[in-house]
Amino acid sequence: MYKFRIVTLLLLLTVFLSGCSTQYAQFPSRAQSGLLDLEQYQLTDRIVPLDGEWEFYWNQLLQPAKISQGELSAMVTFPSSWNKYQLDGEKVSGFGYATYRLRFRTTQEEILALKIPKVRTAYTLWMNGEEIADAGVVGVSNDTMTPQYKPQIVSFQSQTGENEIVIQMSNFHMQSGGLLRSILLGSEEALLALRYRGLAFELFICGALSMMGIYHLALFLFRRKDKSALFFGIFGILVAIRTLFIGESFAFFGFPELSFVIARKMQTLTYYLGTPIIFLFFREMFPTFFHEKVARITLLVGGIYTVAVIVTPVRIYTAFNSIFQIGSIFLMGYIFLALIRVVRDREKNSALIFLGGLSLLVTGLMDIITLSPWISNGWPALLKELIKGEGNSSTGQLIFTILYSLLIAKKFTDSLEYKTVMSEKLTEINSQLDELVLQRTEALTEANKQVEFQNLKLAQVNEELQRLSLKDPLTGLWNRRHYSKSVNLEWQRCIELQKSISLLFIDVDFFKNYNDYYGHSAGDDCLIKIAEVLKNTLEHPSDMAVRYGGEEFIVLLKETEREEALRTAGKILDEIASCKIPHERSAISDTITVSIGVATVLPDYKSDPEYLLKAADQALYRAKNAGRNQICSADY
Ligand code: GH3
Ligand code: MG
Ligand code: MG
Repeated sequence: MYKFRIVTLLLLLTVFLSGCSTQYAQFPSRAQSGLLDLEQYQLTDRIVPLDGEWEFYWNQLLQPAKISQGELSAMVTFPSSWNKYQLDGEKVSGFGYATYRLRFRTTQEEILALKIPKVRTAYTLWMNGEEIADAGVVGVSNDTMTPQYKPQIVSFQSQTGENEIVIQMSNFHMQSGGLLRSILLGSEEALLALRYRGLAFELFICGALSMMGIYHLALFLFRRKDKSALFFGIFGILVAIRTLFIGESFAFFGFPELSFVIARKMQTLTYYLGTPIIFLFFREMFPTFFHEKVARITLLVGGIYTVAVIVTPVRIYTAFNSIFQIGSIFLMGYIFLALIRVVRDREKNSALIFLGGLSLLVTGLMDIITLSPWISNGWPALLKELIKGEGNSSTGQLIFTILYSLLIAKKFTDSLEYKTVMSEKLTEINSQLDELVLQRTEALTEANKQVEFQNLKLAQVNEELQRLSLKDPLTGLWNRRHYSKSVNLEWQRCIELQKSISLLFIDVDFFKNYNDYYGHSAGDDCLIKIAEVLKNTLEHPSDMAVRYGGEEFIVLLKETEREEALRTAGKILDEIASCKIPHERSAISDTITVSIGVATVLPDYKSDPEYLLKAADQALYRAKNAGRNQICSADY
């Protein structure tokens, strides 16, 4: 679809450009032996090129009246640069002066006009003896003549029968002299139309190219990385400038006083600068296909020629122009081959560049050939017609510019589309990211909560475990481990406070018998009941009841004196008795009884809790021996 559109555009462009071209119909009659017979033609209806054999007077400047006194050098083909003529087997030099003469026959008197192209490099023209046109000042040397380019249309009154055109020309500035293009004869109206059409076409090309050139330079300004836009922009502007100096040459139309030298130098400079610039453009586009060395040589040669154009007179540097032209033809060949390789390797965007480059190469070659001294009168008419005109490369460059702009537009659109798609994707990913983060955060919070909950549970379990390890599972009293730990602390405290500490060692009487008679389980219940009594009897929260092992208990009374301890022991004895737990197998009572050993100590650093326990144990032993169910105090 995209390619189809481009082809359509190219077709439209071709039709449009060919409509604007300055071609005129091939005219059948040519001058023979200095005479052109136009009697059979209605001259106001058509445009006649005054081509054919003209009289040529070399190195003679003859007025129409004196022409018969001149010495005819030869009959020569017109138009042509006089360098191509041979006189007595010798080539005519480019520098020199001459008079041309042509007679033509018409049937009636009427107002007609001549369209005279650029002449190298000054002329004066007489029609039927009357001077009607000139450009610059004709002279016999470089110093006596003034060069000027002045394409123009002049009208005159034709006479019935024979009319005579005499032209004096001189050239000491360009390498080739004379007239390269036809002088046209016709009605003023038709010739002016031809000229204006040409001017309009050239101005259109110039405007389009300079706009495109500026556009590409602007592209480069905004995107410095893209040097291809820079080279393309400069090249476009160079070709646009050149367009003003060729063909109908708007530069001379708009600025009649424009100096020949400056105009000539500007036109040449566009060529010498444009060649390396367009090569740099191709190299920038496809670096691997265009050698660095070739680019350097092209730049160097272009640079040397540019300097030469600026500092030397026109006639000096134009002497070396042919070398540059040959060089450019080789360079074009090189570019052409490289572009073929680019297309063959299916490089990106190569098709458009190839088409554009091809149009530029072909039209550029056409221009070089027409402007060169190589074009020969012997060339087939069709070929000469094909390469006629010196503005072909401008058209080629316009086609190239349009194709290249298309490419840039496509690149731009593509990247914009890519950006849009990418940003859409990014937005989507972003929104998904938000949701994902939210989900993850929620999951994390939940996990945290669970960990916290489990920590709490673990703490509870730990606490329970700790508690379990400190308490006796059967009675719920403190166990022996806890006693051993805390008694040391209490011991220290009582040392510091200088307070006594008391210990009751309690043992159930005849408990083996109880177990044997009532069973182990009943024994356990009994132990639980005794433990209850101990807990209830203790008055101070700091007092500590401990199941020391089996049916032995300890009560630790901190900061308690001996009397107080004995009273507590007595209370325990009474309470247990009042529980009235039956004991059939006790030797001393019907109910359960206990024996208690009491010891009280004022702790110091020399003593330890073990001493207190031993003393109580001994007191207990004595209580047992004394008949049980009683309290014995330790004696010290
Ligand atoms: P004494 O008056 O001389 O202290 O006589 P005793 O029978 O109480 O003395 P002994 O030390 O010979 O017997 C202690 C008994 O306590 C032995 C055991 O059957 C019993 N006993 C120890 N621990 C437990 C226990 O946890 N539960 C039960 N049911 N009985 C226990
Ligand atoms: Mg015992
Ligand atoms: Mg006992």
